[in-house]
Amino acid sequence: MRAVRLLEIGKPLVDADVPVPEIEPGEVLIRVAAAGICHSDEHYRAGISKIDNLPVTLGHEVAGTVEKVGADVSNVARGDRVCVHYLVHCGQCEYCRHGLDQFCVSVQMIGKHRNGGYAELIVVPARNAFALPHEISFEIGAIMMCSSATSLHALTKTRLKPGESVAIFGFGGLGYSALQLARALGGGEIYVVEINRAKPALARKMGAIPIDPTACDPVAQIREATSGKGVDVSLELIGSAKTMRQAVLCLAPLGRAALVGLTKESMSILPYTELINKEAEIIGVSDHLASELPTLVELARTGKLRFSSETLRVVDLDAAEINGALDALQDSIDHVRTIIKVTSDK
Ligand SMILES: [Zn+2]
Ligand SMILES: [Zn+2]
Repeated sequence: MRAVRLLEIGKPLVDADVPVPEIEPGEVLIRVAAAGICHSDEHYRAGISKIDNLPVTLGHEVAGTVEKVGADVSNVARGDRVCVHYLVHCGQCEYCRHGLDQFCVSVQMIGKHRNGGYAELIVVPARNAFALPHEISFEIGAIMMCSSATSLHALTKTRLKPGESVAIFGFGGLGYSALQLARALGGGEIYVVEINRAKPALARKMGAIPIDPTACDPVAQIREATSGKGVDVSLELIGSAKTMRQAVLCLAPLGRAALVGLTKESMSILPYTELINKEAEIIGVSDHLASELPTLVELARTGKLRFSSETLRVVDLDAAEINGALDALQDSIDHVRTIIKVTSDK
């Protein structure tokens, strides 16, 4: 079968012809219909996120049709449309037993630690395959499995209640989903803090109140808009100590700030005046849980989570086209997502 693989860090991906993978009991073989090209894939290629089991087929945002099921598989059948949860967990360790699969002691990421979806076929444990209703295209089914799933996990971690106000710092892929999901979960006023001047119109169109941090301090703007109170929930999706601090400072009493963006910088907080006396909470967010995916799929099926077709671009399963898309991601500032449409000869 055809696959597009990372052979060497810092080098372009290459077209490869590899054997169709064998399935073990409890696994399924999926004919890939669509695979999302993610910012993380660019980081793997560049060596920013380390991979030490090369060569590997990238691609952790995958949707397709079940081609074959192994022994002991009952949740999916041949011919089912499915999308794939990208964390392969053991299902037996203490974390897995409590449904906390992202902390599994032997967790493996699809398309990083094991072969992913930049290929005609992929093998995953059956418990990683989730039914994809016909209302959702394979393209959307694939890209939902990463940033949208993480945005939903972040909002779940904040325990957002209907009517509560939300501030979203960063309106990229995560923010685009987070805004719609906050709305779907009943969030009240939603503020979007985004430095890119091309984005306020879109945020407003999607029902949010844009905040321009270049005009004046975004915390002051949020305080002013909320009569001095601040917001109940904030999400930091950028990965900068400065915006993380702002996400905490804009909280109302009992507010919760979920930090999702990654940074190596340290963040300073004055414990008494900025956290303790408001009983505010700072919550770390990492990936998402398999158990949250059916909710996400249902929100997409019912149109509460959408992706406008103008923001989707399709390429073939071809190394040159995929490398081009990864190059473009290095300095991407828009919402355009590139998806590999995997067409099979068979
Ligand atoms: Zn991704
Ligand atoms: Zn485990």
